[in-house]
Amino acid sequence: MDVGILALQGDVSEHRAALNDLGVASRPVRRPEDLVGLDGIILPGGESTTMSMLLDSSGLADPLGKELDAGLPALGTCAGMILLSDEAVDGRPDQRCYGAIDITVRRNGFGRQLESFECELDVPALGGAPVPAVFIRAPLVETSGPDVEVLSTLAQPAPWRGGDDAAPFGAPRAVPVLCRQGVVLVAAFHPELTSDRRVHELFVSMIDGPARRGAERLEATKQVRGTEQVSGTEQVSGTERVSGTERVSGTERVLGTGEGR
Ligand code: GLN
Repeated sequence: MDVGILALQGDVSEHRAALNDLGVASRPVRRPEDLVGLDGIILPGGESTTMSMLLDSSGLADPLGKELDAGLPALGTCAGMILLSDEAVDGRPDQRCYGAIDITVRRNGFGRQLESFECELDVPALGGAPVPAVFIRAPLVETSGPDVEVLSTLAQPAPWRGGDDAAPFGAPRAVPVLCRQGVVLVAAFHPELTSDRRVHELFVSMIDGPARRGAERLEATKQVRGTEQVSGTEQVSGTERVSGTERVSGTERVLGTGEGR
C-alpha cells in the first residue's frame, strides 16, 4: 500500500510518522506526477487558503480533483477537511473545496488560536477508550448530507468556550467532528498530533475495504499519466519513492502558530 501525503504546507511529517507506526509506506505529493499509483492520500492540517493557492501554483489542483472524483480514498484533517468539503463558509472566495464529502464547514468555527483546545472524544466505531483530540483553529461542520456518517460529535456546552453553554452558532447541538462518506474520512481535529493511531488505522482499513472504486481509479491514473495504457493492475513506474523514515523537508509549518486568515 502506498499512501500519499499532500506536502505543500502543513503537518506532513506527523502524518508520515503515524503511517510509519502502522507499517504503511507513504510519500509526499508535491507535483501531479506524485499522484500516480497512490492507494490513498492524506490532506494534512495547516492553512487551507495557503494550501489552496499552492495547489493551483503547483499544477496539482485539477489532477488531484480528478483522482478524488474517481474515488481515491482520502483522509483530511482540519485544513484538509476544509479542502475535501463541499463549501467553506468564511473562506476565501477562490479557495478550493473538492466536494469529496457532503459537508459544509465554517473555517475557524470553533474560534481562533486562543480558543484551541484538547478533549477526549467518544468514537463508537473505533471502540475502546475515548480518542484524544487536539483542535486548533478548527473548522465547524455546519451541515452534513444524508450519505455522511457522523462517527463522532462534540456536544455543547462548548469546551472551546470554557464550559459556557452559549451556542456559537444557532441552537445548542452536537457538532460533527469525525465524518465519513464512502472512502473519504475527515476530522476537524488532528489525530496526527497525538500518539493514538486509531483514526489512521481506520483510514488504512478503508483503503483496503470494498468501497474502493478500482476501475475508475485506474482510468484516472491513465489520465494523469497522459501516456500509454496500464493493463490489469495499476503500476507505479518512474515515481520517486521516499522511504518511511525520510523527513519531508522544506515544508512550511504554520500549524499551531499565528492566526488563520
Ligand atoms: N483554520 C485553518 C484553515 O483554514 C485550519 C487550521 C488547522 O489545520 N489547524 O484552514
